[in-house]
Amino acid sequence: MHPFDYVREKSVSEAMTAGGRTSAKFIAGGTNLVDLMKADVERPAHVVDINALPLGGIEEVAGGLRIGALARMADVAAHPLVQQRFPAVSQALLASASPQLRNAASIGGNLMQRTRCPYFRELIWTPCNKREPGSGCSAREGDNRMQAVVGTSEHCIAQHMSDFAVAVAALDGVLTLRGPNGERKVNATDFHLLPGSTPHIEHDLKHGELIASLFLPDAPHAQRSSYLKVRDRTSYEFALASAAVGLHIEGGVIRSARIAFGGIATKPWRARFAEAVLFGKPSPKMFRDVAEAELKGAKGYGMNDYKIELAKRTLVRALTDLTGGAA
Ligand SMILES: Cc1cc2nc3c(=O)[nH]c(=O)nc-3n(C[C@H](O)[C@H](O)[C@H](O)COP(=O)(O)OP(=O)(O)OC[C@H]3O[C@@H](n4cnc5c(N)ncnc54)[C@H](O)[C@@H]3O)c2cc1C
Ligand code: SF4
Repeated sequence: MHPFDYVREKSVSEAMTAGGRTSAKFIAGGTNLVDLMKADVERPAHVVDINALPLGGIEEVAGGLRIGALARMADVAAHPLVQQRFPAVSQALLASASPQLRNAASIGGNLMQRTRCPYFRELIWTPCNKREPGSGCSAREGDNRMQAVVGTSEHCIAQHMSDFAVAVAALDGVLTLRGPNGERKVNATDFHLLPGSTPHIEHDLKHGELIASLFLPDAPHAQRSSYLKVRDRTSYEFALASAAVGLHIEGGVIRSARIAFGGIATKPWRARFAEAVLFGKPSPKMFRDVAEAELKGAKGYGMNDYKIELAKRTLVRALTDLTGGAA
């Protein structure tokens, strides 16, 4: 581990000043950053603790819920208003990590967590464009069983890891970011970036900027929503494929849908095509057709080819469950 200094700031402006220094990193729960520092993947010279900042809490605001970036995963998952109005968000959090980790980890840190691609974290280092830009991608020809089949590039195929981010993307979450130049809002679907030729740039967050809060808008499809996660074992494991689905159903007919995939893509993958065609009376054929169409452009790299069919089945199952077997 590289030497670093540590400061715990009490105001947002002080934190931004300290966090804006070259090679500074914010720390919240520390469950991702400290791991990566121990592995020498992250090497901040300054660690800025943000846990004393007034960025916690979950409150009702006009049109939805505002969740502070420092709210803990466990608290958000257990909050009655999240459970009633955004069940997919609560379910995604409960399907993440372990109870101990969820008690410690913040939702801001969850959105910022980095990939688990083995080459990104390996101690005997192999080429990895995300860790060392321009060095190459070992996963394309190597162990890519967990990696993405959607949103990949020739430079990186790393799977995005967060479950929570998938539910938030599906339900039209909006992030408030605070930086030296003030506040700005970013749709959750635009916050994570495709790898393209710069896989080391993962978010629309400038150095020194903080995630302050998340807004979840109320909507009929948010209230009838769910998160289905398929993984190697049923707890304490990352997704092989997952789907966050929200449906507005009236009179037995789907009026509108919100869908995002996790586990199969380089960022939370909003299924825009599926959403556009998923309306009318639900049927098994409709669900399968939608899944086929959405995954048409997916590309496997050998060991992860299975994810394409798995993603289709995950979506069909999530839609079937959410329509209560009406299909
Ligand atoms: C064994 C294990 C299993 C896991 N399983 C899952 C899983 O199944 N699903 C899942 O989704 N996650 C899983 N995780 C990941 C876990 O959820 C994250 O480690 C956690 O959410 C990170 O939150 P944190 O507050 O600890 O972040 P930290 O480690 O404190 O920070 C992580 C990153 O976020 C930045 N950051 C933190 N807060 C802010 C902010 N407000 N503004 C700007 N930047 C910020 C930090 O600078 C750092 O770069 C697992 C982790 C472990 C260790
Ligand atoms: S997939 Fe991305 S993170 Fe994994 S080795 Fe390739 S460049 Fe690195």
